[in-house]
Amino acid sequence: MLEAIDLVKRYGPVTALDGFTLHVEAGEIVGLVGHNGAGKTTFVEIVSGLIRPDSGRVTIHGKSPTAARGQVGVAPQHIGLYPSITVREHLELYGRLAGLRKAGLRSAIDDMVVALRLTEIINRKTGALSGGQQRRTQAATALIHRPSLLLLDEPTAGADQETRDAMLGVVKQCAGEGAAILYTTHYLPELTVLGATIAVARQGKIIARGTDDELLKDLPG
Ligand code: ATP
Repeated sequence: MLEAIDLVKRYGPVTALDGFTLHVEAGEIVGLVGHNGAGKTTFVEIVSGLIRPDSGRVTIHGKSPTAARGQVGVAPQHIGLYPSITVREHLELYGRLAGLRKAGLRSAIDDMVVALRLTEIINRKTGALSGGQQRRTQAATALIHRPSLLLLDEPTAGADQETRDAMLGVVKQCAGEGAAILYTTHYLPELTVLGATIAVARQGKIIARGTDDELLKDLPG
């Protein structure tokens, strides 16, 4: 579904990706972990079609990231919402941009309200929301069109338990419905809850991949 082979990306003297190879199947949750600066966000940005690698190949359903953009949902690490419009207006905007209209749009919004627990905040402007409420809103904008590939870059950073629970619940639900999910995080217990395959990034490449049990087995001692 998502295939990335031997990606290299340099920023001047800094090599952000250095032979980064990773694939994610339909219905699979891959948890991408690694130290600050390991290249996780750079990889997400390449798959999102926001930046291009210097070399290597990425395909989504066999298509380039730009050609596959409509099938991808992205919740970037840094929250990017419009502070003076409401949560509902965000969902209408992102839904319309993805081609949803009328009853389809209304029912997609209703689904997001339930899945991400937005009832209390749906008519509030996002500039007045807490960090966790903004995270849930941002995830809803990424999910509204039911993408077949979902890229979540640290979606629970700074989130409280309610937001964390809502996020993990919706991610499991999407994977259960067949979406491929790439989930970057610094919180390993979340990946156990998700039953994710863990991919460990280090210095711009994937150095290990497996379930948490498999990776623990490989540790020395
Ligand atoms: P974190 O866990 O802190 O979010 P990360 O694994 O997402 O880190 P990246 O943000 O992909 O890491 O950064 C990888 C490397 O590339 C780092 O050394 C970073 O400083 C560098 N880098 C990323 N974006 C840029 C940029 N736009 N210009 C210059 N260097 C960059």
